[in-house]
Amino acid sequence: MTDADPPRPDRAPSRAAMRLRRAGWTLAAVAAALAAFTAARRLGPIEALLAFVFVALATIVAPARRAQPEASRSRAAPADVIVGPQTLLLLQGLPGPTLVLDPRGVVLAFNAHAGAALPTIRVGDPVSFALRVPEVLAAVKEAASLGRPALVSYSERVPVERWIEAHVAPAAIGPQGPRAIVLALRDLTAQRRAERTRVDFVANASHELRTPLASLLGFIETLQGPARNDEKARDRFLEIMRSQATRMSRLIDDLLSLSRIELKAHVRPDALVELGPIARNVADALGPLAADRGVEIAVALPETPVWVLGDRDELIRVVENLVENGVKYGRSGGRVDVAVEGGEGPQAARIVVRDYGPGIPPEDLPRLTERFYRGDVQASREAGGTGLGLALAKHIMTRHAGQLLIESRLGEGARFTVTLDGAAPPKPAPEGARLAG
Ligand code: ADP
Repeated sequence: MTDADPPRPDRAPSRAAMRLRRAGWTLAAVAAALAAFTAARRLGPIEALLAFVFVALATIVAPARRAQPEASRSRAAPADVIVGPQTLLLLQGLPGPTLVLDPRGVVLAFNAHAGAALPTIRVGDPVSFALRVPEVLAAVKEAASLGRPALVSYSERVPVERWIEAHVAPAAIGPQGPRAIVLALRDLTAQRRAERTRVDFVANASHELRTPLASLLGFIETLQGPARNDEKARDRFLEIMRSQATRMSRLIDDLLSLSRIELKAHVRPDALVELGPIARNVADALGPLAADRGVEIAVALPETPVWVLGDRDELIRVVENLVENGVKYGRSGGRVDVAVEGGEGPQAARIVVRDYGPGIPPEDLPRLTERFYRGDVQASREAGGTGLGLALAKHIMTRHAGQLLIESRLGEGARFTVTLDGAAPPKPAPEGARLAG
């Protein structure tokens, strides 16, 4: 920490000159008194001159002796002793906001990250001007007086919620204790948010499973007890139990799919897949459900096939979820359009799913891809939803380096657009291979 400069040979005389200059008025008064005594013939000129030289020498020596206890009392080392060019270089190279303070808490130096995190910070100001956190200031005091390091966590609510950890450590320790305090800040916001998401996720998943499980247990007890011999009730209850068990199994399937996709999130799928057959396949598979609800699924495919690099099953899962949502929530519109568009090039391949139902309130739009987020919880449950479909779709799109765009206006239905990098079509197989095939 200490980058002390080598002693300069001209230091001693300049210090003496400074002290003489500082004692100027005292020396002038002594000279005047000696002159008066000489004029009154009480003192010879030689004695007067000797007395003056003695007083001048005393001024040079005496303050030097006094200065020692003064410096140790404040224990503030001159900034350039603690924060030399090497320390500054080191500070700038550190990855987070870091400050060097003197033992009184005055800022001696800070790096660019600290400048960004504490915009009002200035060298020479007490750190409390820029960082008004009593716990951190107390830790700085303690580090200076007791030489004890400390770790303080605090949070800020304005302008956005942030969690920060402050490491306070005494440094450049000399015989009088620390001559500097290093204060390093670490932003824990992302970590805390991830923790909160994980906790919320576990709570949500357990809640989603517990509800149908409680209902199943209730019906089992009823069937074992009061409804034991009631054949009509038994059939009705068994039907409800079947739907609750189906809901649980769908939830577990979705949870497993989510974790599987998360596991391979960094591996981009590379099989050549044509989008047209995916749209057609999904429309066919969901045809009976749509017919059941009085909804027509219309598929529009381009003349030229659109190819992408992807995982066919995962892309089917995305389109299936979008079309199923269109049928479930946009039922009143009576129609769901599925279109494949675009061609080769970055984000040029598209699948658009559009319904003409009630649409999605603007406040829900940014949150729809969060796990377990539903606009209308009851409507989703009644439709057999898990609240994971769009989260799953978004994860799949991220793995495919694609995007999921959601647009909607209340009363005008919803439009979901999946965009992907359009790939070149497969090369025709060589003549010989075709003959062999
Ligand atoms: P769920 O299993 O509930 O359908 P999703 O993640 O697929 O879960 O969808 C989340 C929520 O988004 C749904 O609960 C619903 O409120 C809303 N939503 C999705 N698609 C539509 C749509 N086409 N029209 C209106 N609301 C929709």
